[in-house]
Amino acid sequence: MNASNPAIDAFIERLPPGRTFGEVIVNRPDAGFDVRHRQDEKTAPDDLELIDPEQLRLRTASDRAGRYRPLRSAPGLRSGWRARADTPAELWRVLNAVYPGAVGDWYAARQGEKLLSYRQFASRQSGMFRNLAKLSEAQARRTAQACCDEKRCLKQRLWPAAESEPPPDRESRQAPVMVCLEPCSLLMELARREFRLGQEPTVALQLPEPEISPILTALETLARSFPESSRVADFSAPTAPHRLALLRERILAQAERKT
Ligand code: SF4
Repeated sequence: MNASNPAIDAFIERLPPGRTFGEVIVNRPDAGFDVRHRQDEKTAPDDLELIDPEQLRLRTASDRAGRYRPLRSAPGLRSGWRARADTPAELWRVLNAVYPGAVGDWYAARQGEKLLSYRQFASRQSGMFRNLAKLSEAQARRTAQACCDEKRCLKQRLWPAAESEPPPDRESRQAPVMVCLEPCSLLMELARREFRLGQEPTVALQLPEPEISPILTALETLARSFPESSRVADFSAPTAPHRLALLRERILAQAERKT
């Protein structure tokens, strides 16, 4: 990368000391930058492993349990390291190692990047995703709520899940935050599940209204106890967190329709 990079320059300009970006914290102890997990904010530098961007990329590709992280913006970044950047170009490399493309996306959003709605994006897909523009607005919204919830992704979703969704407030995004400009492959995979479920026969369940809340809570609890040996993106597992989140949204929507 050459010396001129308006994205990292704008990022640094708007980055107050100690500001977090996703789960990392960026400080300026001197003329350079210190990047580490926010949990390690108070840890003495010598107690953290000093690593370079390539090591950092490998370290953050798996979670604390050693599972591959299909979504780099999901919570669960490993801690215990620090990275040093002496120049904006080095900071760009460090941040891209942890959150690929995130600073560039933030800058693109600030510059007014045009955002496609879910349906517009899905209608451009081919192969196994080619049918996904057929999701109804309610299905697309449900999928986005399940997948993009802050418990599963730290990015702020800017693209509208439905045409009727109000556009995001661009003015409030001056400070660097991780933003999402288009559906990711994990979301599209969940949309595929939602599409297939929409073609299955349904059953009508009559439940007393006070029992809905415990069911929703139980689904959340179950999602949190997902076995460490399991793959997060394997939606065939009955207790896969995204699958349970989608079910939770479905129950919630049906309960709201009845009240
Ligand atoms: S589509 Fe949702 S889950 Fe995927 S990166 Fe964007 S905000 Fe995160």
